[in-house]
Amino acid sequence: MSKDNSEIITDIFNYLKFYTEYSGYPLYANEIKNSDSSFDLLNCEVGFPEAKDEVDIPVQERKNVKMEIVNEKPVNKNPQDFAHCDSLDKFNEEIKDCRKCGHLASSRNSLVFGYGNPAAEVVIVGEAPGAEEDKQGRPFVGRAGKLLTDILKAINFEREDVFICNILKCRPPENRNPLPDEIVNCEPYLFKQLELIKPKMILALGAFAGQTLLRSKEPLGKLRGTFHEYKGIKLLVTYHPAALLRNPNWKKPTWEDVKLFRKEFDSMKNQ
Ligand code: SF4
Repeated sequence: MSKDNSEIITDIFNYLKFYTEYSGYPLYANEIKNSDSSFDLLNCEVGFPEAKDEVDIPVQERKNVKMEIVNEKPVNKNPQDFAHCDSLDKFNEEIKDCRKCGHLASSRNSLVFGYGNPAAEVVIVGEAPGAEEDKQGRPFVGRAGKLLTDILKAINFEREDVFICNILKCRPPENRNPLPDEIVNCEPYLFKQLELIKPKMILALGAFAGQTLLRSKEPLGKLRGTFHEYKGIKLLVTYHPAALLRNPNWKKPTWEDVKLFRKEFDSMKNQ
């Protein structure tokens, strides 16, 4: 067996490992036993159930709940206002006491800045910290985080290779959806992070991340499956791992998306 095929088979088993662990769906063994030289990971169908369309409410149409904003420490709004921050560490230091959303600042244990390689070629953008992330101060460390790690492994990325962050840096109470005002407050921090990291590609997880970065009202079902651009950086939107835990039917389209992402990444590297 050639080295390439060995790697392909390893990829498949990595993916199947996370799939079986989280989906609860049986695998179709006849789909994976094929190990001849014509086996093509990118075209293989693993026999998943059909995916349903996720119903997402565009950011701009969500209920515009008025909130109390407590500016205990005024924070600049635009990435250019942070021009003096020429590294992620300096930028983290600059915003670590942010209280633009007073209610989130009051209830948080940690401001979850993001974590990973500061020179990453790939940035993963999620929605907001959950309870475990808030406790540990790191993004994607709960069940959804474990699934994200497995998804990344299945397409040959280690968590250490990428940078992972969220649209909101503070946890919304009860893990509710981010409010439009909160996104407006916090998105400049994400934009500055992207400006500092200068990734080659962005993977946006969930409708909030996709709509915020693309300034789009389209639901996730329409955004996913094709590449977009954020300031010249290739961007793909797919389902958030937390959504996959709720609805395993979305694993198939997610798998298609992340394979596409890896294929594009490889082709950019080979140019
Ligand atoms: S969510 Fe963002 S803008 Fe709001 S308080 Fe936290 S860090 Fe500041």
